[in-house]
Amino acid sequence: MDKKDPTIASLGEFGLIQSHFAPLCSNKKGITVGIGDDGAVLAVQPNQELVVSTDTLVEHIHFSSNDNPYQLAKKSLRVNLSDLAAMGANPNWYLLNIATPPSTQIEWINEFARGLKEDGERYSIVLTGGDTTSSKSGLVITITVMGTVDKGRAILRSGAKPGDKIFLSGTLGDSTLGLTYRLGYLKISNHLDAEFLQNRHLIPEPRVSLGLAILTEKIAHSAIDISDGLIADLKHVCSESNVGAEVDVDKIPLSGAATRLLETGGKEILTQILTGGEDYELLFTADAAMVDKIASIADKVGVGVTEIGVVSSGSEVKVLQNGSQLKLDSGGWTHF
Ligand code: ADP
Ligand code: MG
Repeated sequence: MDKKDPTIASLGEFGLIQSHFAPLCSNKKGITVGIGDDGAVLAVQPNQELVVSTDTLVEHIHFSSNDNPYQLAKKSLRVNLSDLAAMGANPNWYLLNIATPPSTQIEWINEFARGLKEDGERYSIVLTGGDTTSSKSGLVITITVMGTVDKGRAILRSGAKPGDKIFLSGTLGDSTLGLTYRLGYLKISNHLDAEFLQNRHLIPEPRVSLGLAILTEKIAHSAIDISDGLIADLKHVCSESNVGAEVDVDKIPLSGAATRLLETGGKEILTQILTGGEDYELLFTADAAMVDKIASIADKVGVGVTEIGVVSSGSEVKVLQNGSQLKLDSGGWTHF
């Protein structure tokens, strides 16, 4: 983008809303009143409940100035969709609050809106409003998503029971490895691996279909999406459910790229895989009798689901390798 390209200041606040955001509001999904009034009016079926979640991405903290706006739009929406997925909710509507420096180029917003449009269609979620302001200190993007579940059926963090098996979708650790590579802290000689891991960080895949399927099929007692790291998020489930857990490191699903890094990087890489965040995979717990049903659902939605451990009574979260417990110290995860 050329520095002399026109900026959003030339559009004005309402011009920008009209040209770039209003077109993302279609007439689908029970929208009685969309963008343009003081509030949106949205129809919810009488037997359903609304699931609402919000996440903010801040320039210099969550992304950098020269990040690709098309990808950034997708990530902003997807991290929110991942929360809906973890509740088993069906995505419906979202709000976009954006604070942008007036010097932001129109081409940047074009690409940002293109990313939102593409993913809005892909995940069947419609923009129904928001807020647009200027910012003197970088870009701030807040998206609020709304989805629906049948009354009383949302999957919570608090339902895990001792004896439940713990399941994880996809592969773990790719995003954090991609990020540290991107920041220059990790060397990756294989270009394809580097690209794969970076993409896992830049454009996560929210497990919306999997979340819907485990709710519909009454599979899970509890669920969470991995945004803060496996161990931290598993601890959230355990404390909300008043249970403990044992995770078997050797069962954790890894991509080929992460496996290759683990072979050469050892303990530090393992620590990163266990504690790094932003994978946006689903972790859920379910009765052991559900194993076959889960395998067939995973097959149907085309996402790998791996059993990685078991819920225990008590409150401790144990990480096991070859049957012995690992402990986190300043040098990473080590054997006792
Ligand atoms: P108000 O001043 O009443 O809060 P605004 O002038 O901020 O309303 O917004 C006018 C309309 O444009 C509202 O429907 C609002 O939801 C919508 N809107 C504003 N900013 C955005 C945005 N970034 N994305 C989508 N809709 C937006
Ligand atoms: Mg108003």
